[in-house]
Amino acid sequence: MVDLKGQYDKIQNQVDETIKEVISSTSFIKGVIVRKFEKELAAYLNVKHVISCGNGTDALQVAMMGLDLKPGDEVITVDFTFAATVEVIGLLQLTPILVDVDPLTFNIDIKRLKEAITPKTKAIVPVHLFGQCANMEAIMTIAKKHNLSVIEDTAQAIGADYYFKDGTSKKAGTIGTIGTTSFFPSKNLGAYGDGGALYTNDDDLAFKLRSIVNHGMSKRYHYERLGVNSRLDTLQAAVLRIKLPLLDSYAKARQEVADFYDDAFKNCKKIKTPKRDSFTSHVFHQYTLLVDEKYRDKLHQYLLDNQIPNAIYYPIPLHQQNAYKNFIFDSDKLNVSKKLSKTVLSLPMHTEFEKEQLEYIAENIIDFFKNNI
Ligand SMILES: *Cc1c(COP(=O)(O)O)cnc(C)c1O
Repeated sequence: MVDLKGQYDKIQNQVDETIKEVISSTSFIKGVIVRKFEKELAAYLNVKHVISCGNGTDALQVAMMGLDLKPGDEVITVDFTFAATVEVIGLLQLTPILVDVDPLTFNIDIKRLKEAITPKTKAIVPVHLFGQCANMEAIMTIAKKHNLSVIEDTAQAIGADYYFKDGTSKKAGTIGTIGTTSFFPSKNLGAYGDGGALYTNDDDLAFKLRSIVNHGMSKRYHYERLGVNSRLDTLQAAVLRIKLPLLDSYAKARQEVADFYDDAFKNCKKIKTPKRDSFTSHVFHQYTLLVDEKYRDKLHQYLLDNQIPNAIYYPIPLHQQNAYKNFIFDSDKLNVSKKLSKTVLSLPMHTEFEKEQLEYIAENIIDFFKNNI
């Protein structure tokens, strides 16, 4: 699905050198390099504060802790996403309210979001799934009206641009109250291990989030609030500093792959290529096809048999997961999510393709439908 080795080969000298430097410096935790990376990422995103942490899941948890959400508060997020969001809502004893997504963009359905708001609602967590932004302008209007916080889960969309109706634009994750991201190796800006970050333009909130990731300390050995131990280590920050200047070129490479796939499948009636919303750029963390339910699993296996990696993100909607069975979800209102779990198929997507590889993938998919209809 990804080619991390091919990507490493192109930056090997820089990476090897920086790793040696960090090891010789022995400044493994909270080194100046971590601060430098935070500042560089903040400049790239045009946001006031970046607070690094241990991973994208911690970033979501710390965001919810920083907003002082209390047990029983309702947090609205989507049913069709990676589990981390619902998991941390549960860990903090908040109440997850899962809403359905748009059948073509896979992002939060604004109508369903509006319907889900109650007097107990305190926050909305839109997930910018697969690399394009949810409808942030509509979400921010709703949040303002009901006085809700917005935590943007940008784990899959770092670097994506959101275009406002007035012609201005902002980076994904810098529009809501807090943005969170992940530097998991296969994410668009991947470290060589775990990593994550929070972004915000709010000075007081930034101070608080920075304290929460470090045991709730305000100054050394003064514990102001409950915190966690969640840090980006210096080795990861050093690697990320090399990759950050390449992030836009990585996004461009991904978009070129997406364009190739779009074009290759334009006459293939049994599959739908991913819709791109007009208010956002798409950084294609995943390129996800919609395949007729009758053929999806067969195609999945056929491609595997032909040595073509492909994956189903996500095969089971969150509301059906055993881990969350103690929460109450309105399954009747999650039909899009249920349907998507049976029709989505993600193709290999990364920055290091050879033309022949893409052609091989496309030919196999087209052949599959020729032979199956
Ligand atoms: C990867 C991911 C996370 C979690 O990030 P980790 O660094 O793996 O903890 C959260 N949300 C979404 C949407 C993700 O894709």
